[in-house]
Amino acid sequence: MIVILKPEVKSEGPELEKIKKFLEQFPGINVKLVELTGKTRTVREVHLIGSTHDVSRELLQSFPGVERVIRVSTKYRQIGRDDIDIVPVGFTYNGIRFDQDGLHIFGGPCAVDTPEYVEAAFKALRDAGITTARMGAYKPRTSPYDFQGHGAACLPWVFDLAGRYGIKVIAMEVLKEQHIEEISEALEKAGAPTGVMLQIGTRNAQNFELLKAVGNQNQFPVLYKRGMGLTLEESLNACEYIASEGNRNIIMCLRGAKTQLGWPHRNLVDFAHVPVVKRLTRLPVCIDPSHSVGSKEHAPDGLIDIFHAAAQGVIAGANMILVEFHPQPEAALCDGPQSLTVEEFHRFTEDVSIVRTAYEQRVNACSRELVREMIQ
Ligand code: PEP
Ligand code: MN
Repeated sequence: MIVILKPEVKSEGPELEKIKKFLEQFPGINVKLVELTGKTRTVREVHLIGSTHDVSRELLQSFPGVERVIRVSTKYRQIGRDDIDIVPVGFTYNGIRFDQDGLHIFGGPCAVDTPEYVEAAFKALRDAGITTARMGAYKPRTSPYDFQGHGAACLPWVFDLAGRYGIKVIAMEVLKEQHIEEISEALEKAGAPTGVMLQIGTRNAQNFELLKAVGNQNQFPVLYKRGMGLTLEESLNACEYIASEGNRNIIMCLRGAKTQLGWPHRNLVDFAHVPVVKRLTRLPVCIDPSHSVGSKEHAPDGLIDIFHAAAQGVIAGANMILVEFHPQPEAALCDGPQSLTVEEFHRFTEDVSIVRTAYEQRVNACSRELVREMIQ
């Protein structure tokens, strides 16, 4: 059950105390105050966790300061849409708005390698007018003998360079709780020239302790990548783990599912789920065409498969794209074969904007149709 408070009710106000006092008579219920900051207002909700069968919705509804009481039937209490459309969708981080309407491209190498390549990547982003990047300092690799990432040692110069090129957010994978602290400390020491979105990789999609750790902090938003062998439901439950710890600034990323049916792509592209995730949750949806496709083959029409896959997600309303490019893909220490060159990356951004315009036209045509039906 969720009690939505009126906008003027404060976290320490007498209205909230009254509600808490009333709920004390139901010992099996855990009471949690949740604050959601949206575009126009901060919504405060009281979440009642446990069996709320005996709690009268009507009685609670009559308490001073209560705007609405909702019985939640959905499993996704925090991230789900249910009928709580009043609750804001999306969040702002380091000056950038993430919601189910916008679109951001996060480009860059798979892994941080040399300062020269990282600088060239940031420069390419700046030339494209993009302030969002991707690159990992901690890399989970299939083989223990492969490059594992430079770790915390590279963070100071990566953040410093990012700041110099106006990068506002870097999506960076974390493999354990300690990595969050290392990122936080390095950012602080550097004077916060940029921001970080903590990435949960597909290999950690059900690492519940890690999910709780990123959920238990509010400094960084979280990019959750769907488990490569998980159902959509299992991955949404994993996002719910993050949110239930208190951090709702989550983006859900589709990155393809592992199956032989995906051949010759690395994974089976699952971007048809973009509108599904938008319907079921309030989360902005990211697509990762690089890891879905995993190669740089061209179709006979001249377009790279990665472009075609990205287009499928963008035409369906994706809000973020994670895409790998490298100033010299053949020298990349990780995922070189699927990395676009800088020139290809620039063509990629142009292609995305063509498709995005088509998506916006589709949405406009659809809403014109709805208005026509309403006035008839
Ligand atoms: C990545 O984005 O660098 C990555 C390792 O992706 P995934 O976890 O989806 O394989
Ligand atoms: Mn990669």
